[in-house]
Amino acid sequence: MWDASKCDFCGDCLVKCRYVDYDKDKAVSEIRLLMEGKAADILDRCITCNACFQNCPTGADPANLIYKMLEKIGTGTIVASFKPYIDIVTRAFEGSSGGSQVIEGDPDKPVLSFDSFLFTQFPEGTLESRMFKGMTVVRGKKYASLVGMGHMGGESLAERYGQKVIEGLAELGKDIVYLHNEGYVLAHVKAKELGIHVPYKYMHLFEYMRDYLKNNQNDITKLNKKVAYQPNCAVRWIPEQDVWLNEIFELIGVERVSRKYEGLNALCCGGPALAVNKELALNIQNDNINDAIENHAEAMITICPMCDAVMRDQTSKAGLPKIFITDLCRMALGEVSWPVS
Ligand code: SF4
Ligand code: SF4
Repeated sequence: MWDASKCDFCGDCLVKCRYVDYDKDKAVSEIRLLMEGKAADILDRCITCNACFQNCPTGADPANLIYKMLEKIGTGTIVASFKPYIDIVTRAFEGSSGGSQVIEGDPDKPVLSFDSFLFTQFPEGTLESRMFKGMTVVRGKKYASLVGMGHMGGESLAERYGQKVIEGLAELGKDIVYLHNEGYVLAHVKAKELGIHVPYKYMHLFEYMRDYLKNNQNDITKLNKKVAYQPNCAVRWIPEQDVWLNEIFELIGVERVSRKYEGLNALCCGGPALAVNKELALNIQNDNINDAIENHAEAMITICPMCDAVMRDQTSKAGLPKIFITDLCRMALGEVSWPVS
């Protein structure tokens, strides 16, 4: 959460932003404008990649300042594009609790939360996997993380409705496994910032799958493949997920190639950028995919259904298979085959 008292006006956040070309003076003047509650150039050009959250050396969280101001000023391209969707989500939270689904599972197994995504946004057969069989499964507005709304001009939604979402999950009376990064971020990062108590145990999908694979190593056939990983923007809040992912890769015999656009230098999938500048979005995707191919990746691994969807055309054109992380693990368990490129 933005903390003005931590900002020393170094300008690093916007000088290091890959999507603008500001020098230090321009970066600092932009931050000053935002701090004064005024419109600034960055509000028309930010693609909400979240990188400046990590690039700020003092922990002031400039990304949060930008997202708050995107919502307050309300004229940026990204806000205008997504306003109808933000209005729908807001009306849903202000109205009845409909629009959510619960598939009851075994009493002794945890809940798998799909956030507000549709089941069809994940690979076919995901719920039939032995990794998830018997889990209670939930999705829909009541279980929406809301964290992603910051990308669309709805930064305040987590603050306004986050408590309701946590209460909805608590009512299930079970441990929660978050299939999407942003659900985990609401419970693990935003809840603390917003003073919301999380009264249940929770884990990230990677922790859950790592533990499953560790406990079922005899069922694994090592894939012996090299891959590139496309993190989604929420990963910036939970860099620890990288360790869990590496443990999964080791268990299933997958090597993550070393490449330029990795870790702090990871590129946005291009999704939010499509609303701001389509040419920029396609250039980002091409740079990202070419970097993976040049470094001998045999597939691009995704964790977010949005990244997965928006990268589909370009990975397909480049002949680089794109695999959702759950499917990658299912391949090692013999449930699905490695794609034919
Ligand atoms: S969120 Fe990303 S695009 Fe926006 S200012 Fe920060 S680094 Fe730049
Ligand atoms: S928000 Fe952080 S990176 Fe940006 S100017 Fe302030 S201290 Fe520097």
